[in-house]
Amino acid sequence: MIVGLDIDGVVADFVSPFLQVAEQRLGNGPIQLETITDLSFKEHPYLTEEVVWKCMEEISYDPQFWQKLSPLISPQEWQKLDSLSRKGELVFITHRYERETYDIHQVTCDWLGKHGIGKPVVYFTQESKAKLVDHLGVSLFVDDRHENCQEVAEKTQATVVMPHRLYNQSFNHPRVKRIWNFSELFSYLP
Ligand SMILES: [Mg+2]
Repeated sequence: MIVGLDIDGVVADFVSPFLQVAEQRLGNGPIQLETITDLSFKEHPYLTEEVVWKCMEEISYDPQFWQKLSPLISPQEWQKLDSLSRKGELVFITHRYERETYDIHQVTCDWLGKHGIGKPVVYFTQESKAKLVDHLGVSLFVDDRHENCQEVAEKTQATVVMPHRLYNQSFNHPRVKRIWNFSELFSYLP
């Protein structure tokens, strides 16, 4: 059984440092995490899609941003992921941008390695994650972005698990299983 795991917002704390980048750009003081109720930012009082896009572009050229991310899961959970990985049953699937100025693949693998994944396998795509899930034969897919969960649930046979976040709390789908604690993921393994 192959598990396909998203990185940002699932095992790496992306939103808090991203908001710090946005704060610097806007210069309006702190942006409260509680105001991020939707990752499309359509309803946000002052964080516009344009600002978000500019910040995304900025961090995509900054290897340090990715190197400094904090983990969202415990050492025990990393250990369990590592044993899956060693059996060839774990892949990471990310929408992180690849730029010519540095090797985000290496930065990402180093970060995962630092947290205990011996030989991480990471796929980068700017297309639909469902295509990769299908192509790689992933049967358990995990993502915090509900749009990705919905797409994979509707276009593939994979079981789809979504860690609960403020920004995906209002999403419901019959084929997307919400988990409140990362460890619940392991109950979906044989
Ligand atoms: Mg994510």
